[in-house]
Amino acid sequence: MPQRTTSRGRGVTRRDFLRNAGAGVVVAELADASPGKTQATPASAAVRFTPQSGLTQISSNLYLLRDTCNVYVLKDGSRALLIDFGSGHVLNLLGQIGVSRVDAILHTHHHRDQCQGDWRAAAERIPIHVPQHEQYLFDDAENFWRNRRIFELYIVKNDFFTVAQDIPVAGALRDYDTYRWGDHELLIYPTPGHTLGSVSLIGAVDGKKVAFTGDLIQAPGKVVNLYELQYYYGSTDGVDYAVYSLTRLREQGPEIVCPSHGEPFTSPAAGIDDLIGKLKGWYALYDPGSTLTIDARPYAVTPHLVASYQTTSSSYALISDSGKALFVDYGAASGNFCSTFINYTAVHDRMGFVEHTLDQLKARYGLKSVDVAMPSHMHDDHLNGFPHLARHHGTKIWCYENMVDVLQNPRGYNLGCILGEPIKIDRSFRNGETFKWEEFEFQVFHSPGHTEYQMVLFSTIDGARVAFTGDAFFPRGDGTLRHNLIFRNWVENDSHVKSIRTVLEHEPNIVAPGHGKPFLSNKADLEGLKARLEDQQKYFFDVIADPDCNFGLNPSWARLYPYQLQVKTGSNAELELRVRNYRSKPMRLEAALVVPPGWKASPEVVELTVDPNGNASAGFSLAVPENWDRQKPRVALAADIRADGHYLGQIAEGVADVQFVS
Ligand SMILES: [Zn+2]
Ligand SMILES: [Zn+2]
Ligand SMILES: [Zn+2]
Repeated sequence: MPQRTTSRGRGVTRRDFLRNAGAGVVVAELADASPGKTQATPASAAVRFTPQSGLTQISSNLYLLRDTCNVYVLKDGSRALLIDFGSGHVLNLLGQIGVSRVDAILHTHHHRDQCQGDWRAAAERIPIHVPQHEQYLFDDAENFWRNRRIFELYIVKNDFFTVAQDIPVAGALRDYDTYRWGDHELLIYPTPGHTLGSVSLIGAVDGKKVAFTGDLIQAPGKVVNLYELQYYYGSTDGVDYAVYSLTRLREQGPEIVCPSHGEPFTSPAAGIDDLIGKLKGWYALYDPGSTLTIDARPYAVTPHLVASYQTTSSSYALISDSGKALFVDYGAASGNFCSTFINYTAVHDRMGFVEHTLDQLKARYGLKSVDVAMPSHMHDDHLNGFPHLARHHGTKIWCYENMVDVLQNPRGYNLGCILGEPIKIDRSFRNGETFKWEEFEFQVFHSPGHTEYQMVLFSTIDGARVAFTGDAFFPRGDGTLRHNLIFRNWVENDSHVKSIRTVLEHEPNIVAPGHGKPFLSNKADLEGLKARLEDQQKYFFDVIADPDCNFGLNPSWARLYPYQLQVKTGSNAELELRVRNYRSKPMRLEAALVVPPGWKASPEVVELTVDPNGNASAGFSLAVPENWDRQKPRVALAADIRADGHYLGQIAEGVADVQFVS
């Protein structure tokens, strides 16, 4: 998220807040304040009501206040950690239990009833931590409201239950990380359902394993409401998430569940099972025949090759006799998890991810570790589990060489389906390179078409010659093969033809595609596709006016790099104009950068000559004013271009995300 929010009118600026974040707060003077006493606040944040009850002790160091939501107080001597905050009335009561300092507030989700009093915590310099995928609904809430579609409403998810004013955020709670506070360790466990970015916080409190679950479950067998479990018009997507999250929560083996509404309950397994059963029943009633994400099952294609095809993109585990696995692709748990996380998260957010399949591979197929993961191509739906594998399973990431920069530096490009999170690459392979991993041998080739950044990987597995082809082509129902074309993915007229020729030359027995089940390869079908792709190539030349038709296929032949530049106020940033010349003669370009008023680009004009069918680049330095308008954290840049004497205009563009330094 851009760091830009102020908390005007709440007595503390964001800068002040951040400077003091972690300093804690002395609440002693508030402890004696009579219930109902209001603080000096902006009218919109005024507290008009207070909860009826006081603090209830759950165990020696765990307390509960029934406020607009349940506020849990984890106590360590005179210090406290709060789970959710409600109206903030809890600050008036902490003195009663000897607490004089609140170290932090952790929110389970973004709903107003969880955090409507946070302005008060901000004023008291209490650091507020929020789920990573909901941060924009706290510190960028005002922008959310400016942009939330209300007419023509199909995204019906209840993000309308978001605070009206920005809340300063001290830190994000990252899925599967651990939040440490003194001797306490709370696992930040993603439990989407009630909201997309909801987390449960799970850890030992007073010798018991406690789960603070937000509104995932209200009571044994019950949810707070069903309407929060619908994100897209008419769908059961949120029910699918809730069943998934509840099943995973149950596996964590909590002894006490502390919900955000309702009463904490012990021995929760039966109550969670009861709710799972009811939600599964509702899902089946509403959507007969559809498969829940939790019910997806991988299967063995050959003894060592296990395929997961119900995940959004198919994921393949080649499991060696040692128990180590090499994965080809590992994306979202299901279509629901993929599409909803892409469509309903913020512009600056990253696609969410929940771990899947690994437990089944361990239980049924002898998986001991995920040693290596390789993407068939650079698309987010095929690799959004890679950062998780690298961070939490020690997996090494290998890829075809032209994907390295796209994956490590995703801000550089404007291509279809780039995962926003950078992925560090441990090893890369050249076109035609062979390598050995465990008892298996492989050969990698460039396989453009679906995207320039795709490989085909061949290996002999259990006697079968397998081709991992990514999204190059898929079987139609009638036995023929189909391909696809996305111009934004960097396509040239011969891309698809190159790809199918490589596959044909290597005569695979089994094709393992990027979506759907592996299928037996049939030479006649491959030849049929090749003929159609050759026709496609002719069509490009026929229909595109420029005889060098790649100019009409690739919108990025002239482009700014990085496409999403990061700049700091009062500093300079470097960017490049990169050009691919599709002519068979040299191309001479002059280019000027078009920047916002007050910004300065140097040089004013760059000149470059690009070899026939070659690449070239020229650099600009961009000076960003110190006092740039905080209301404009992202601006567009363009390159105005003349090529071989023809004035083409502002045909290349990019954006700059501004970080405000002062
Ligand atoms: Zn809620
Ligand atoms: Zn793809
Ligand atoms: Zn795909």
